[in-house]
Amino acid sequence: MPRLYINLRLIEENAHKILEKCSKFNVEVVGVTKVSLGDPKIAQALKRSGIKIIGESRIENILRMIENGVEGPFMMIRIPPKDDLVKIIRWCEYVLVSELKTVEWMEEIARDLDKSISAIYMIDVGDLREGVWYKDAAEEIIRALKISKRVKIIGVGTNLGCYGGVLPSTTNLGMLVEIRDLIEKRLSCQLPVVSGGNTSALKLVEEGRLPSGVNQYRVGEAIFLGTDVTNNRQIDWLTQEAIILEAPVIEVKTKPSFPQGETGQDAFGRKPIFIDKGMRKRAIIALGEQDIVPSGLKPLDKGVEVIHSSSDHTIIDVTDAERKIEVGDTMRFKLSYGALLRAMTCPHVEKIYMQGV
Ligand SMILES: *Cc1c(COP(=O)(O)O)cnc(C)c1O
Repeated sequence: MPRLYINLRLIEENAHKILEKCSKFNVEVVGVTKVSLGDPKIAQALKRSGIKIIGESRIENILRMIENGVEGPFMMIRIPPKDDLVKIIRWCEYVLVSELKTVEWMEEIARDLDKSISAIYMIDVGDLREGVWYKDAAEEIIRALKISKRVKIIGVGTNLGCYGGVLPSTTNLGMLVEIRDLIEKRLSCQLPVVSGGNTSALKLVEEGRLPSGVNQYRVGEAIFLGTDVTNNRQIDWLTQEAIILEAPVIEVKTKPSFPQGETGQDAFGRKPIFIDKGMRKRAIIALGEQDIVPSGLKPLDKGVEVIHSSSDHTIIDVTDAERKIEVGDTMRFKLSYGALLRAMTCPHVEKIYMQGV
């Protein structure tokens, strides 16, 4: 079985470093656990780092954490489906929203349950995922503020670098602060939270370019992987070794690099491109699309190349490997966010937790 080695101490250290760096700029860090299926041990590591709020995209994951003794506050970071609202209001302290209708539903449910919840209204400043388009934002949020009582709208937020790959900047985050200021002025109200971003916004903090007023980041990727995929970089003050995947080698053979016979599509309806490099030594590892995203496998072995995965097999060219790789060996990999997401959520990948170095 493939194994994920999860070093809780390194995760805690990454989280702590991010927290320290952000605190200097008055930015609170929400630790986002969604890549981990709401893993309680990981959430506890985040808590030990000093992070207070746990951000999650699935209510089931939040319930899993609560059942395993993780204490909130919890923030629901995916704008919520109607069916989840009862549970969200019962179990979460914060929720991100982007629809008046959802605010209305939450009001009703909160009244029925005699509860309240804090909400952050999401504004789209260009990335084109969730949030009300920035030009319409002030008007919609003012209407939301007028209809909400038990839903306490405490601020505005945005998400960047997820669909459009738009990079957080002084301009787009500045717009978020401006919209907040405008609403505060119009209604003489307080919207203290400006939840300005995720891992991709850490760069602005590092470079001292974060517009003042932005005071919350929701961070996942950097904590677990030490990478920032949107800016295509490794974050040099974090470790990239907190989580390592290991998989068994189940075949090593020398074969042609070009298939023999007439070709159609692969098992997933794709048409792989083959480059004829002559005979190559290839290892198959017991790992596939079910467990990882193949393009997100980053081998620790030097000189090897991930060629292709189907559901359960991944072919790796080991012709130029620095060590001799044989059947029965294992190979180790760092992972992209997508690959980690799949591995963490796959029941066929064993999770091994380490506390030490
Ligand atoms: C996933 C997510 C985050 C965390 O993003 P990272 O890039 O992993 O830091 C923050 N906010 C929202 C709304 C998200 O969906």
